[in-house]
Amino acid sequence: MPTLADYEPIIGGSAIDELREVAARLMDRHIVMVNSTRSGGGVAEILARMMPLLKELGLRARWEVIEGTEAFYRVTKKFHNALHGRPEAITEEMFRLFAATGEQNAARLDLQGDLIVIHDPQPIPLVETRAAHPSAKWIWRCHIDVSNPQPDVWNFLKPFILKFDAAVYSAAPFVQRMAMRQLLIAPSIDPLSEKNRELSPEEIAVVLGKLGVPQDEPIVTQVSRFDYLKDPLGVITAFRRVRRSVKCRLVLAGGPATDDPESDEVLHRAQEEAHGDPEIHLLMLPPNSDVEINALQRASAVVVQKSIREGFGLTVAEALWKGRPVAASAVGGIPLQVKHRYSGLLVHSIEGTVQAVKQLLNNPDYARRLGENGREHVRQNFLLTRHLQDYLLLFLLAGSSEDVVSLASRP
Ligand code: UDP
Repeated sequence: MPTLADYEPIIGGSAIDELREVAARLMDRHIVMVNSTRSGGGVAEILARMMPLLKELGLRARWEVIEGTEAFYRVTKKFHNALHGRPEAITEEMFRLFAATGEQNAARLDLQGDLIVIHDPQPIPLVETRAAHPSAKWIWRCHIDVSNPQPDVWNFLKPFILKFDAAVYSAAPFVQRMAMRQLLIAPSIDPLSEKNRELSPEEIAVVLGKLGVPQDEPIVTQVSRFDYLKDPLGVITAFRRVRRSVKCRLVLAGGPATDDPESDEVLHRAQEEAHGDPEIHLLMLPPNSDVEINALQRASAVVVQKSIREGFGLTVAEALWKGRPVAASAVGGIPLQVKHRYSGLLVHSIEGTVQAVKQLLNNPDYARRLGENGREHVRQNFLLTRHLQDYLLLFLLAGSSEDVVSLASRP
């Protein structure tokens, strides 16, 4: 695992000094992060990288994961879709299962700490136990866009959320206004992880060889869980239209997440759609296929993220950090990362995706410039170290009764 000093060549020494200064005010503070899976998806990705650095900075940080039955994860997947605005039939029985699983986890997990950070809706009912830990502060860290949810699910969750001391969102457009402290913290990627570190062309070639993806033609890639909201079928349709005029291969790389029961079905649909097409590579990657994803992103002439709805969209930041030209839907957190015609191209439809991918494939110099701008944008805004700094400030703020927390060492 990298240490803080390893980030200095990327972000500079003063940013590291600032982290240490703020952390000095939080020494030995006990932080508990809780989410719903240890691998698969962006939240697990961030937590895995952040925990060691919090510890290095002197905080006592622990990561707990809730457990649930398959039926529970089917319910939370429906909640997830409904919070993104998709109509879902949710029954009273489902609400009961959600709350009951929360109670079971509350009995099982060690929630002793000074700051309890609950990620996303799945573990929300744990807040019911806060009376048992009266001095702890509770933070709801929402990674998804809840600005336009289905009312039944939102109305069910809202009373839980109001019991937290603060709610944190990834971006301003995701917010639900509520009578509580609300803050914005953008997610991040770790430039030193296996998924994002530099790779040599030889390393890339070895990985692609193992995955059975030839580098004879430009590669267009989407890395995503197999989820309808990531629109893998739309990507296949767009690819086929691009290929009518430009030679290229498509890679759709995804993997399972323990909290996503729909992925098998979506993969199956994508397999049917791609059936018998040697230029479409559907890769179901096992968990922790970080170097594989890294190599695929780096080998790509264009990275696509044609999501229908999206949280922040870490895969976009990962591609931009690698200097890749990106064509991505203007949904969720993607427009924060892709400034149209500056750090990538934003698309709104299948036809728009076709045009954008063709433009990038046909104009390599332009594509390279967009990629370079994207990398710098990520360096300035979406690296793990900036995220860590925001969390430290959040912990200071949450632990204080003041609205404004002075960061000067001697006020
Ligand atoms: N990811 C992965 N394996 C896969 C698919 C995705 O490791 O097969 C990673 C991807 O590289 C990114 C994260 O999972 O780091 C997905 O985060 P994102 O915000 O793009 O989407 P989410 O899955 O959270 O909706």
